[in-house]
Amino acid sequence: MVAVRRAIVPLLLAGALLLTGCSDDAPAAVPGTGVTPTATSVTPSASLPSSPSSPSSSAAASSSAPAAPAAGKVVVLDPGHNGGNAAHPAEINRQVPAGRGQTKPCNTTGTATNAGYPEHAFTFDVAQRVGKALADKGIRVVYTRQNDTGVGPCVDRRAAIGNDAAADAVVSIHADGSEAAGATGFHVAYSSPALNAAQGAPSTRLAQTLRDTLRTSGFTTANYIGSNGLSARADLAGLNLSTRPATLVECGNMRNATEAARMTSADGRQQYATAIAAAIEAYLAP
Ligand code: ZN
Repeated sequence: MVAVRRAIVPLLLAGALLLTGCSDDAPAAVPGTGVTPTATSVTPSASLPSSPSSPSSSAAASSSAPAAPAAGKVVVLDPGHNGGNAAHPAEINRQVPAGRGQTKPCNTTGTATNAGYPEHAFTFDVAQRVGKALADKGIRVVYTRQNDTGVGPCVDRRAAIGNDAAADAVVSIHADGSEAAGATGFHVAYSSPALNAAQGAPSTRLAQTLRDTLRTSGFTTANYIGSNGLSARADLAGLNLSTRPATLVECGNMRNATEAARMTSADGRQQYATAIAAAIEAYLAP
C-alpha cells in the first residue's frame, strides 16, 4: 500500500468523480495510438539489425531467434517497501522530497495479509518474476532493490534510479491493505496533473496498458478506489519525481481473503507477474 492515503481521500473521491465520463479511459485520447495494444501480437522481425554495441557478446551471437520487438529497451522495476524497514523507523521516517513542493517519509513498512504475509515479500517476488520474463525477451531490467532484507531505498531515490537508467518504462509494484468491507481488485496509479512530458501521455498509456492486460488476464479492477482500474494521483512521490514513463500497480487488496490467497501462493504471484510483464512488453512494442 501507499501511505498518506487517508489524508487525501476527499481529493481522491473528487478525482474519481471527475474521471468518470472523461477521456481518461479512451484509447483515442492518447496521441499516437489509434488502437489498443494487444499483449499477444508478436511480430517476428528478421530484418532487425543486430545490436552494434555488443559485437563480442557470445550470448547475443549464439541466439539465432529473431529479436523480440522490445529487445534493448530498459525497464525499471520497483518492488514496494523492504523487509528491513520495520526495524529501522528513524531511517524510514525521515522526510525526503516527494515532488510538488511536498515531503514524505523515506519509505514505509507496507501492509500484509491477515495471516501475516507481508507486502514487501509479495512485491519483491513478483518483481523478480516480471524481471525474468522481460529479460528473456532481451529487455534490460534494473531493480530499485536487490533483496528483501534491506532498508529503503527512499522514495526519491527509487525515482532517481528510474531517471538515471533512462528507463523506457518504470513500474512500481505494490499491494493494498484496505479494511473497507468487500474492498477488492487491482488499480494502476499514474501522476496527475503531469509535471513533465513523460508523466503525460506515455505514463497514461503505460497505466492503461497495464490495466487492460491485467483485466484480460483475469484480474478484476478495484471496487473501492480509482475509476475503472485507474487512479490519477498527485501524492505519490515516486511518480511525481519521475522523468520517465512511470506507473504504480496495486495488485489487489491483501486484506481480501480471495486476493490474499492468490498473493500468498507462488502460482498466484506468477499470474500477476506474467500479466505485468506482458503489459510492459505491449507498451514497449505496441
Ligand atoms: Zn505498498
